Amino acid sequence: MVLHQMPRWSARLFRAPPGWRRTCVLGPSMGSRWLPDRWGMYSPLVCRGYSSASGSPEVMLTCKRYPVQRLPFSTVSEKDLAAFESIIPGRVITDPDQVEACNVDWLRSVRGCSKVLLRPQTSEEVSHILRHCHERNLAVNPQGGNTGLVGGSVPVFDEIILSTALMNKVISFHNVSGILVCQAGCVLEELSRYVQEQDFIMPLDLGAKGSCHIGGNVSTNAGGLRFLRYGSLRGTVLGLEVVLANGTILNCLTSLRKDNTGYDLKQLFIGSEGTLGIITTVSILCPPRPQAVNVAFLGCPGFAEVLQTFTTCKGMLGEVLSAFEFMDAECMRLVRQHLHLAIPVQESPFYALVETSGSSVGHDAEKLGSFLEQVLDSGLVTDGTVATDQRKVQTLWALRERITEALSHDGYVFKYDISLPVERLYDLVIDLRTRLGPLAKHVVGYGHLGDGNLHLNVTAEAFSEGLLSSLEPYVYTWTAEQQGSVSAEHGLGFKKRHVLGYSKPPVAVQLMQQLKLLLDPKGILNPYKTLPAQD
Ligand SMILES: Cc1cc2nc3c(=O)[nH]c(=O)nc-3n(C[C@H](O)[C@H](O)[C@H](O)COP(=O)(O)OP(=O)(O)OC[C@H]3O[C@@H](n4cnc5c(N)ncnc54)[C@H](O)[C@@H]3O)c2cc1C
Repeated sequence: MVLHQMPRWSARLFRAPPGWRRTCVLGPSMGSRWLPDRWGMYSPLVCRGYSSASGSPEVMLTCKRYPVQRLPFSTVSEKDLAAFESIIPGRVITDPDQVEACNVDWLRSVRGCSKVLLRPQTSEEVSHILRHCHERNLAVNPQGGNTGLVGGSVPVFDEIILSTALMNKVISFHNVSGILVCQAGCVLEELSRYVQEQDFIMPLDLGAKGSCHIGGNVSTNAGGLRFLRYGSLRGTVLGLEVVLANGTILNCLTSLRKDNTGYDLKQLFIGSEGTLGIITTVSILCPPRPQAVNVAFLGCPGFAEVLQTFTTCKGMLGEVLSAFEFMDAECMRLVRQHLHLAIPVQESPFYALVETSGSSVGHDAEKLGSFLEQVLDSGLVTDGTVATDQRKVQTLWALRERITEALSHDGYVFKYDISLPVERLYDLVIDLRTRLGPLAKHVVGYGHLGDGNLHLNVTAEAFSEGLLSSLEPYVYTWTAEQQGSVSAEHGLGFKKRHVLGYSKPPVAVQLMQQLKLLLDPKGILNPYKTLPAQD
């Protein structure tokens, strides 16, 4: 194993005085089907939202595949279209090809039949639209980058799609506090680039960063790759502006670190998946950009060794440890097979990706070096490589970040995103391989080990009821028995709304339903999502 010199990130001086404010428009959204490739370029590999146009098979309508009844909402009339046109002239889209792209999710697993896509630019426009929809009892599906993995981002029937793609302005950035205020439709990667220019980073990062919007991230309470270091958006989001179902604008857009005045209402909207309000503006705390970032990609002989490597890592790397991800051999084979990425270490049953981020190049290199020596000598790790420059850091991260994409090339994917006690994190993968046998093409496990979060994925040539019934409710029951969570970070959306009860008691579910009724009495915001259907 070669331990290279650590990369040196250029330390920059602040360019603007404290309190500097400006408004800027970030580059146009890449659209919902573009994700960055390993070199940060945009690759059409995942341009799969279109059905017949792209030559890939048509996605079955959600209302045909799943037993779901349309609720008694109104249907969009010519008069409604005229009203929308007067609110957002030229941004009412009814062209079937353009609307169709927003009817299908990134996984191509669910499909609505909306006929209208609205593209507001301001909170006031969102407010006018919702006021009209509320009066007319029209259902609305908020949509960000459409990278959600649980079917929450696309309509189930003919809900109006309200896209935040044109709400992509940075409102202010304070380069002493690191507080960024921006519109909800800013693409995460664009924001990352923007704050990096001022020597800060976004507190979250995820494989879909080239397409997902900050509003979508907040609405799903996305976890991602920096969670271990910077924690949940519940801590880093300082304020929100939200438009409620009846069009009222709720301004909780504080930029204060501390504010204990009354209930913290913004928390209601973080992770509520567009069912309680439409997030229009976000205030978020960005950490300073680390001066030294190192990534080690390691091969481990078993899952027990992965766990021990993690324990050693926490003990020896302490405050500089910023990510600990794990992948099984099957995942990496699919990454190699479908994306043609090279795995830089000997084939191993498991792999771990360890990232350190700190303020001193020499100090971090020394710590990482001792850690690597220790895990190699003790046999916890059998092979590994360390990134020396930013380009190689990105290449190693791509192996982890692009697993979702590799899986999507393998066929229909049954996805589970669960929280478990870390020592039991891999048991379910082993169990399912035996249980499913040849029914499944692949059963793979990977995830944010440092956060106790397993991504369990089962691929098959096509969607199959038989396979689904072997998986569910088995996976959920198994998870509940370990006191785990049936959705660690992806939310419940459409596909998982009926499993809320495995992780929350009836009283909690009932209270959620009451909150929904209070904030959205007609139920027009993202119906059929997050909460189980009520009989
Ligand atoms: C390759 C890949 C990797 C991923 N990695 C991760 C990961 O590591 N961690 C993780 O947590 N997720 C991950 N995801 C899932 C997804 O990217 C996140 O859920 C992301 O936060 C969704 O953002 P979006 O803008 O695409 O939202 P969308 O998919 O458009 O919407 C998601 C939900 O939020 C609602 N919504 C969107 N915008 C708003 C708004 N402004 N106001 C109110 N509601 C809104 C929608 O109605 C929907 O219910 C990944 C997805 C892909 C494809």
